[in-house]
Amino acid sequence: MKTTTGDQALIKRMNTAIVLEAILREAPLSRANISELTGLNKATVSSLVQDLIDNQLVRETGIGASSGGRKPVMLEFVATAGYAVGIDLGVNYLRGVLTDLLGTVVAERTLPLIGVQPEEVFGILRPFIQGLIDAAPGSAFGIVGIGVGVPGLVDRQGTVLYAPNMDWRDVPLRDALNRTFGIPVMIDNEANVGAIGEMKYGIGRGVSNLVYVSVGIGIGTGLILHKELYKGASGFSGEMGHLSIEANGKPCRCGNQGCWELYASEQALLERAAEAGYTGGLDELLAAAEAGDEAVRGMFAEIGRALGVGISNIVNVFNPNAVLIGNRMSRARVWLEDAVRETVERRALNFHLRNVHLLYAELGERSAVMGAAETAIAAFFVRLRSA
Ligand SMILES: [Zn+2]
Repeated sequence: MKTTTGDQALIKRMNTAIVLEAILREAPLSRANISELTGLNKATVSSLVQDLIDNQLVRETGIGASSGGRKPVMLEFVATAGYAVGIDLGVNYLRGVLTDLLGTVVAERTLPLIGVQPEEVFGILRPFIQGLIDAAPGSAFGIVGIGVGVPGLVDRQGTVLYAPNMDWRDVPLRDALNRTFGIPVMIDNEANVGAIGEMKYGIGRGVSNLVYVSVGIGIGTGLILHKELYKGASGFSGEMGHLSIEANGKPCRCGNQGCWELYASEQALLERAAEAGYTGGLDELLAAAEAGDEAVRGMFAEIGRALGVGISNIVNVFNPNAVLIGNRMSRARVWLEDAVRETVERRALNFHLRNVHLLYAELGERSAVMGAAETAIAAFFVRLRSA
């Protein structure tokens, strides 16, 4: 008897998830539309929809167009049934958002980070996250999860194995946050969550095979293959910032030399600029380029050519539909894009170039934080399906 009940409960959960996904994708829908879309009979759909309405995940909204008989009541997903926290933990900043279940930003905060030792960062991160949680309106599911993007290698247990620019090794970030807040926590590399953010909410929507190049202090890459994030055998991949582009180039802290990020990152730009007496950071350089400073425009073009060299290799290896430049250097698009495109067109193999698009982050510096929130939302829907 117990088995039968268990099986029935399982079938009901699966069918509920199917109905919910139909509404998420295609709303507004009537009960009859859902029955047609899913192949479930109308009585089953009506009962499952009632459960979803009772759980405040779905609501009735107005009357749809009739195809003959009585006009149907339409259904839509209640995006405010729960909220997610997204965090972009940078080397020298914290950015956080609170979003509803469709990724609409309800609250957003940023904070400079001075220290980088794990204990110092936890001490700032905990109240920062709590502030976002406190900003959430009351809802059926409350805070469904916290997603965090970090500039380093993360294993499947959410431990930051190595974050070179913060000098972190083996920091169990997911466990620490999970203990504090008692809600599910997802940790991933910032380039991976940046790729997810652009795929879900930005210029990467609908692109099947996408390489997201996060150009900040270092360079990270997130790989979307067939619309899924590619994580590699151990949960980490995409350390393309350490592609060698100069066989006898500068030494890198990774142990190799001539790595791409030494020539094409924000850090590379700032070092080059400092030699010429510009010490005000990226904002100063953008303003100078805007004001017509040819020397600064030349520096951006130089970085653009170096970016193009690495992107040519990526295009040749992965044959993606698009390569997307994101993170801080996407702000310099207007000063980079000619140099990037000319270099890629000159260097990448002709066949590979035919369908590849060179894109720039639509979410700008928010790609990672939105992707981090999305990982928490996606995990919530997976739990709903298997709860
Ligand atoms: Zn390196």
